[in-house]
Amino acid sequence: MKNYILALDEGTTSTRSILFDRAYNVVCTAQHEFPQIYPRPGWVEHDPMDIYANQYATMTECIAKSGVSPSDIAGAGITNQRETAVVWNRHTGKPVYNAIVWQCRRSTALCEALERQGCGDMIAEKTGLKLDAYFSAGKIKWILDHVDGARAQAERGELLFGTVDTWLLWKLTDGAVHVTDRTNASRTLLYNIHTHTWDRELCDLFGVPMCMLPEVRSSSEHYGVMHLMGADVPLCGIAGDQQAALYGQDCVHAGDLKITYGTGCFLLANTGETPVRSRHGLLTTVAAACAGEPVQYALEGSVFVGGAIIQWLRDELRLIKDSADSEYFARKVRDSGGVYIVPAFAGLGAPYWNMRARGTITGLTRGAGADHLIRAALESIAYQSEDVIAAMRSDMGGAIGNLKVDGGASANNLLMQFQADISNVTVIRPAQKEATALGAALLAGKAAGLPPVSADTPHTVFRPAIPEEERIKLLRGWRKAVKACLLSEETND
Ligand code: ADP
Repeated sequence: MKNYILALDEGTTSTRSILFDRAYNVVCTAQHEFPQIYPRPGWVEHDPMDIYANQYATMTECIAKSGVSPSDIAGAGITNQRETAVVWNRHTGKPVYNAIVWQCRRSTALCEALERQGCGDMIAEKTGLKLDAYFSAGKIKWILDHVDGARAQAERGELLFGTVDTWLLWKLTDGAVHVTDRTNASRTLLYNIHTHTWDRELCDLFGVPMCMLPEVRSSSEHYGVMHLMGADVPLCGIAGDQQAALYGQDCVHAGDLKITYGTGCFLLANTGETPVRSRHGLLTTVAAACAGEPVQYALEGSVFVGGAIIQWLRDELRLIKDSADSEYFARKVRDSGGVYIVPAFAGLGAPYWNMRARGTITGLTRGAGADHLIRAALESIAYQSEDVIAAMRSDMGGAIGNLKVDGGASANNLLMQFQADISNVTVIRPAQKEATALGAALLAGKAAGLPPVSADTPHTVFRPAIPEEERIKLLRGWRKAVKACLLSEETND
């Protein structure tokens, strides 16, 4: 019986390896940052070889540091930055171009042209996504159109496409396995989330030869074996980062919701076996499920400026020295004194979708001080999250259960209590902070035959504690502030 499970967490700025024991406690971690390549404003690339080399290095470092024998590792799971596209030669194993990263805007014009042709609705219906440069299809087309000879090679079946999970899996199995999972496939704009197949019409639209595409499998099953420090380790879990976090937070039933409070906030609500089409601009995506289990779906929304507003207080306004100090100062006042901050630094996302709105502060009085501003900044994270939760509630017909939280800013107790109050939900914060890596480990552990994680893991609970009238009053103030923010955009024109 083997005792450990390895999670490979391939993020946007760093790769990490995290070794868990069979009770899913973290035993050891190793992390390497890798270079970001910005060839032009708005363009972002990674060197796929850097991704692979760094991931490999963190694996060996993590295992060596832990003192665990590689032959005692039951399996490994991959979780990854989603949508990022890699195209490589199947014979040489060399990428034909850098990985084009999810943040890269270079296919905006293509997406806008397709929108003008009226393709947006068909694409949303099939993929659950918006027609946007964020997703993989436009990135693949760009590579095939701009790299000398790439399209002809692709059509001859010499090139392979993969999101980062696929690229890593292929490299780690010495080119034996060309596979992705449904959570990653569902972020490409080429995958039909209802039929669970690559879609010929979409591939034709984006000019992507279907022979480049990986086989799509579940998120927990045996994909292949990697030879690692003298041992054979099964690769048996894959999920995109947000879906891995959803799984790691045990949000496996309809109505379960998780928020990752990082620089931005990512909200995913499990909608069970039903793909819910949003009427508020949320995305429909595939949630992680194991082989032989029914496919599950999720609604996804994000808040662009989450913890970043606290960095702004720190770096631009210099009101605090450290993000964590925000709680200390916010507690010095009873409330925000009627001050609201709408941190629309780069527009407002769901459910407003106004990219030209800009940040606004309302309700300033002579008595408003730094502590009120700090409190209002923290509250803005919760209000924006509540806007997405309200959209999810409306799309799902009201069925939201408990809210599980993770990410850097979830450490803030005042913010978590305010979220519980303003959203009228119970917020649960697990002591185990590695939700994304844990999700990958759980998926791999399940396929490797390890027992599931114990149900009574330590956590902190924040229950709603303000009267309903108070909640309504606060939300009314927030809506007025958002209105002011949206109005300011219109008069700027
Ligand atoms: P990312 O993965 O996006 O880099 P993290 O999960 O590491 O983000 O979280 C970092 C973000 O959380 C930063 O924006 C930081 O300002 C914010 N943050 C961290 N700790 C706290 C805290 N105690 N209170 C409020 N915000 C915090």
